[in-house]
Amino acid sequence: MSFTANNRTYSPPSQPIAVICIDGCADEYISESIAQGYMPRLEAMVKKGYRGMVRGALPSFTNVNNSAIVTGAPPAVTGICGNFFLNPETGQEVMMNSPEFRRCETLLTKAADAGRKVAFITAKEKLRTVLGDGIVERGGIVFSTEKVKEAKFETHGVDNAEEIIGKPQPEIYSGDASIYVIEAGAALVEQGKADFLYLSLTDYMQHKYAPHQQESLDFYKDMDDQIGRLLDAGCIVAATADHGMNSKNDAEGNPKVIYVQSLLHEQFGAEGISVICPITDPYVVHHGALGSLVMVHLEDPSRADEMIDFLYRQEGISEVHNREMTALKLELAPDRIGDICVLSSRDVVLGKTPADHDLSVLKGGLRSHGGRYEEMVPILLSEPLNEEYRKIALADPRNFDVFAFACNGGN
Ligand SMILES: [Zn+2]
Repeated sequence: MSFTANNRTYSPPSQPIAVICIDGCADEYISESIAQGYMPRLEAMVKKGYRGMVRGALPSFTNVNNSAIVTGAPPAVTGICGNFFLNPETGQEVMMNSPEFRRCETLLTKAADAGRKVAFITAKEKLRTVLGDGIVERGGIVFSTEKVKEAKFETHGVDNAEEIIGKPQPEIYSGDASIYVIEAGAALVEQGKADFLYLSLTDYMQHKYAPHQQESLDFYKDMDDQIGRLLDAGCIVAATADHGMNSKNDAEGNPKVIYVQSLLHEQFGAEGISVICPITDPYVVHHGALGSLVMVHLEDPSRADEMIDFLYRQEGISEVHNREMTALKLELAPDRIGDICVLSSRDVVLGKTPADHDLSVLKGGLRSHGGRYEEMVPILLSEPLNEEYRKIALADPRNFDVFAFACNGGN
């Protein structure tokens, strides 16, 4: 049965549909893993189906893109423009960790209304709380692998999740936290408990390892096994990423960081200038809250122009926009961003001040995301594209079209 969410219509076939967000999956991870023989099921899947590239939403952060994916809409519509924003009403830095911050419905609730057995499984608890509202009330299942033990029928739609999956709760800082999400999805499909799934992983492994490293290859092999399980259970499988991932180090392996607040305070004085790092979240172990995009908030916005000019001249800074242009060019909600938005080069991250970031947590160098260079991500589909979607794929498809590809794009 068809359903409509945020002015888009989805007409899923009756077979189970599993959409996976492989967090931080730059295309190189897929290429390298396939080339080295670690993803035979995925290789066969896209040979029969489709593999291409899509453009994610900016900032290329997890919450921003997961919100876009489950709504089928850009951040200007979802209102989720980062993990953190400065609330203009209170002047406080607020973490966007509850559904009240979201400005539109999710397509998951609409799918449930249309009679689908929806399951939304995430690695991180924060995504469950931001995006999982309304599903359990409609008979669906929502839980995170981080808190799978706490899953209860009344609040999560399922009582004995660990038993259903057949494995105990994994450690959140591990590759297993992601694999467990797909295992859970496969178990739910195999047992007839779900037929419309969104499975959102965590980028812990991609932050830690480059595509060619053995740890990464082994991780993608485990992922391949579980994707195979979904295919064997009769699923249409679609996968994309929330953002890519790049090395942010110099040739010696030291992180290349520009501390934007320190830089501006030095040049313009400390008065009325503060920088927000919207990548900041409770899981900073793997990125030290350093990403490739920051927002500058000014007490006096008329000072923006001279600061934009100054910042744009700095080596390692690739884009600087005022609030209006940021909203326009990055498709963001103007009241949820700063007076200035700064993006860095491929191998550079932006911070606030040296004291605000603990680089000692970054053993083995820094890999991160957030900017323009982590915007393009893969899309993978188990079905060959129909005529209409072949055309869409050649234009400017987005990662938040992934449910449309899965529901409407197959032959
Ligand atoms: Zn992510």
